[in-house]
Amino acid sequence: MIGSAALLLSVIALLALSPARAQSPAGDFDVVLAGGRVMDPESGVDGVRHVGITAGRIAALSTKALRGTQVIDVRGLVVAPGFIDVHAHGQELRSSQLQAQDGVTTALETELGTLAVDRWYASREGKAPIHYGVAVGHRQARVRALSGLDVPDPLFSAEFSRVEQRSEWRLEAATEGQTRDLLADLAKGLDEGALGIGTIIQHTPGARREEILRVFGLAARRSVPVFAHVRSMGSVEPNSALEAVQEVVANVAATGASLHIMHIPSSCLRQTPACLEVIAGAHQRGLEVSTEAYAYTAASTAITAATFDEGWQQRLGISYGDLQWVATGERLTERSFASYRKQGGLVIMHMIPESIVDIALAHPVVLIGSDGLPFTTGGEHPRGAGNFARVLGRYVRERTLLTLMDALAKFTWQPARRFENHVPAMQLKGRIKIGADADITVFDADRVIDRATFEKPMQPSDGIVHVLVSGVPVVLNGELVARARPGRPIRRATRR
Ligand SMILES: [Zn+2]
Repeated sequence: MIGSAALLLSVIALLALSPARAQSPAGDFDVVLAGGRVMDPESGVDGVRHVGITAGRIAALSTKALRGTQVIDVRGLVVAPGFIDVHAHGQELRSSQLQAQDGVTTALETELGTLAVDRWYASREGKAPIHYGVAVGHRQARVRALSGLDVPDPLFSAEFSRVEQRSEWRLEAATEGQTRDLLADLAKGLDEGALGIGTIIQHTPGARREEILRVFGLAARRSVPVFAHVRSMGSVEPNSALEAVQEVVANVAATGASLHIMHIPSSCLRQTPACLEVIAGAHQRGLEVSTEAYAYTAASTAITAATFDEGWQQRLGISYGDLQWVATGERLTERSFASYRKQGGLVIMHMIPESIVDIALAHPVVLIGSDGLPFTTGGEHPRGAGNFARVLGRYVRERTLLTLMDALAKFTWQPARRFENHVPAMQLKGRIKIGADADITVFDADRVIDRATFEKPMQPSDGIVHVLVSGVPVVLNGELVARARPGRPIRRATRR
């Protein structure tokens, strides 16, 4: 007969030897997400799992229940990698919080960037609800080299508009000396850890093709991507969007640089299928080229931009009434357009055919980014608050344009994989696997939907239930955790 004390001892010995106990001696994790439908696009896992989180990392994935200091019951909900927005201009607190409520855990200002890279990162340290990162901006380098001015942060302030009005940096060709100056400024930004080089070629028509080729050469030498808003919009030849896409793809072929083209539908409009043929073909032939789209039929930019230089109606296929003034929501006329163009500010352009948005979102080489602008007047384009829930609700659930797993891949694993060779921090993002950063978005697939509209763009998305950033809840039970600031810099190694 075995005494009860001996039996108890042998049970304790068995428990101590089991691998689950060895992995977590106390049997506890900081946070456990219990019983949700884990969807991980990298591994293809789609099933009920318990996720254990310790010290900001995913420490366990199990079909058996886990014990945690905090246990969040997520039965019936999807547990996905936190969404990565590769194109996010709105980096101030309110924009970041609205993005968190849209499921975003990492937001990167890649297209416009900044020149003061060190200062940009320092100003956000400890103050950001979600992870943040920035490219160094060619447009700003041009402003400094040709107009002798610094571009102020934040974007689209009154001072920003004054800089916008100066013509040298927009229209003039750079001299050899100015070209060297602007390349030196870009190199300095890369030394400070910028993610790559952002360039909005359409806003700087004075930048000759040779200047842009040299920017690509710098990117190739430093092994960083170029994030490019291409030289032209629309399908009027010459100077079509297709020609503009061919310019940057040729630069990749010539220099070996890595290229990400911003918002392909709003640049290429009806030429989008041909633009995608060039990008996908280049990609298949081994060039490192990608692109992205947002889920709206309207674009948005500064009314002072070269986008609205003579002939814009023909190029974009729209007229005054298709333009919406952000500050008031009014549609423009010839007269109000002229007056606002002198004043400066943001405008929304209703110009992208729905069929073109569909083609882009469903295409395998197209990632999904928001292009969200800072919410300063409250009338900005809703994409900064609703883009990702809109994809999941309208394009996946209601219209079944793409599967849930394929949609998630486009803003989790695919962007992480796309940029991880250049930005090592991305290796631990965009995945639900042991060792990955605990950036996790939990949502109700039956309910998730955008609520931000062109009339009321700052309404947070619905159905995004919990959002963890480095294991810290920023959204909990559908409510914003207003004081949470777990965001960390996404930055390349600095070189000084
Ligand atoms: Zn752009």
